[in-house]
Amino acid sequence: MRSVKFLADGALGSRGAALHEDYSDEPGQRGLLLLSPEELEVRARAFMARGFQVCIHAIGDRANTLVVDVLLQGAERTGTQALRHRVEHAQILRLEDIRRLGAAGLVASVQPTHATSDMPWAQTRLGRERLKGAYAWRTLKDAGAHLALGSDFPIENPDVLAGLYAARTRQDAKGWPEGGWYPEERLSAAEALEGFTVGPAWASFEEARRGRLKPGLDADFVALSEDPLEGPASALVDARVLATVVAGAEVFRADG
Ligand SMILES: [Zn+2]
Repeated sequence: MRSVKFLADGALGSRGAALHEDYSDEPGQRGLLLLSPEELEVRARAFMARGFQVCIHAIGDRANTLVVDVLLQGAERTGTQALRHRVEHAQILRLEDIRRLGAAGLVASVQPTHATSDMPWAQTRLGRERLKGAYAWRTLKDAGAHLALGSDFPIENPDVLAGLYAARTRQDAKGWPEGGWYPEERLSAAEALEGFTVGPAWASFEEARRGRLKPGLDADFVALSEDPLEGPASALVDARVLATVVAGAEVFRADG
């Protein structure tokens, strides 16, 4: 075991995500931190000093400011910048925190389907201004963050095809909203695929074994009914897995 995960705050749906300012739909409510800043700092630094990769769940912009502070200062004091410390979810950030996270090359471990699950009501909770740094995959990547895409199973469906589709379109399976929700934050087909393969392998120190199809690496792959790079994003909605190979052994083949 080389990694540890802390939770800095709660979730947006329950208004538990820690915000700098009040929730737009509940004056007086700013969510909550699950640990005091001092406690989080002490605990994170203790794990860093023992060689652990520290991953901290941060949804709200207040939590993300704290987590970026804790990871940057902790890594600096313990000399562990090479441990690939991670911000889990990195969901709602002030733009200056996105810049700091990216400049330090921290891992932003984000889940594309969170955006498409939350988009019907996220603006009611947060207002337009705060959404500029929310689910901001393009901005995070351009700032220098290492993107590791995932599903957040069991909160969301673990289907990677749904994640690839959400990352490229920021739409639901029916194509709503037209053009995508804050479409400037979409990822390209190659970036989305890389985010679900190379990105997580790097974020878990497995890039020498996994994440690419290359001689000498584990042969972990699927055969899909659609081309996830050249085909249109809309084809991913009905795409199917035809075969699954784990470490070179076929473990699944679709009927027919
Ligand atoms: Zn989490």
